Amino acid sequence: MPVVVQTEADQWNSLLSGESDAELLSQLEQRLSGDSCGGADGPWRAIVDSISDGICSADAEGRIVQANPAFAALVGVSSSRSLTGQSVCDVIVAAASGESEKLVQQFSRGMTSFACELRRGAELADGVLRVACVPLRETSESDGHSSEDHSVWQLRDVTHQKLAEEARNQFVFTATHELRTPLCNLKAYAETLALQDGIDVDRQKEFCNIINSEATRLARFVDELLNISQMEGGGLSVTKHQTDIERLLKEVLDHVRPQISKKQQTLETSLPARFPKLSVDKDKISGTLINLLGNACKYTPENGSLHFTVEVEPGTLLIHVEDSGYGISAEELPRIFDKFFRSSDQRVRDIEGTGLGLAFAKEVARLHGGSLTAQSEVGRGSRFTLTLPLDTQIDQV
Ligand code: ADP
Repeated sequence: MPVVVQTEADQWNSLLSGESDAELLSQLEQRLSGDSCGGADGPWRAIVDSISDGICSADAEGRIVQANPAFAALVGVSSSRSLTGQSVCDVIVAAASGESEKLVQQFSRGMTSFACELRRGAELADGVLRVACVPLRETSESDGHSSEDHSVWQLRDVTHQKLAEEARNQFVFTATHELRTPLCNLKAYAETLALQDGIDVDRQKEFCNIINSEATRLARFVDELLNISQMEGGGLSVTKHQTDIERLLKEVLDHVRPQISKKQQTLETSLPARFPKLSVDKDKISGTLINLLGNACKYTPENGSLHFTVEVEPGTLLIHVEDSGYGISAEELPRIFDKFFRSSDQRVRDIEGTGLGLAFAKEVARLHGGSLTAQSEVGRGSRFTLTLPLDTQIDQV
């Protein structure tokens, strides 16, 4: 377990340290602060034009003098020349289109060194820009006095870094919750059994069942972390054997039925009359389907309906898991396969989960040469489709 956490931490740290341009940029800023900034051509211009950070210089009124192509791209214009003469503050505010008060306030105070982050919309995934301004100190040759009348502006798209930070925070929250809750329950029930006399046998059994299910929950979380850790290290593999797929599906459905009946949901199944030959990693495909059906049940209110449909198409087996549940918004849908992602919908947040199941399921599908896709609409439900290639094209059904 400590090894797993360490590996995860390393991976997060390396993800977050994606500052490859930072050193280059600081050298560049130093050069720009010196007397070489006036040279619009030559190697420095080539470097400025080639880095992924947006760089522009502005005059005393904050009007753009020069901008590199990355700056133009980040503010959404095709040519950096078209920016010349425009107010750098207006250009950035228009590009951010979200909260921009911090920048406007700073700008109104005059050219001082500052850095701030601007969101491009309500969601982090809409984009986050980091803006930094460095005043240029120019020394007059005649009187030797320095004056700050130009500035260099740096724009960086930090969306990926912010999303990684959010995912890390989510991981810490999830890990703490997923470890602490079962541990507290285990401790409480075990202590009660050990210290209290006169607990009748039925009650003792009930307590033992709770201890058992909490230990299972802990083990499941640790397994999920191990799977994800293996996945990250490229070490997750599948061992495929020709499998009686009808039997596998029956076992999966038997596994999830109690959970579904507990919420008085209906489960309709539609299976082909004959199943084709399929080589799969039985445990990993079972785990994937249990996760999909478990999610369908978890994220659907009581009395909702679930559909489990299997279709055979030339060369492919399609397994659809459909529910009439809360659904997933169009903004969140592309992120559900990310590690640790959990919806911001409070109804989902209130339900136990780690945000690891779908990331694992997608990788399992990929390792089988198949795919896992999702369609969803808020308030109407979701449909997940697992596609697996059949063993051969002939004699399949
Ligand atoms: P977990 O369910 O443990 O949170 P998953 O990786 O299985 O983790 O799912 C990630 C997220 O995707 C869930 O937290 C939820 O926000 C969303 N999700 C997955 N399946 C469904 C579904 N059937 N209906 C609505 N949301 C879903």
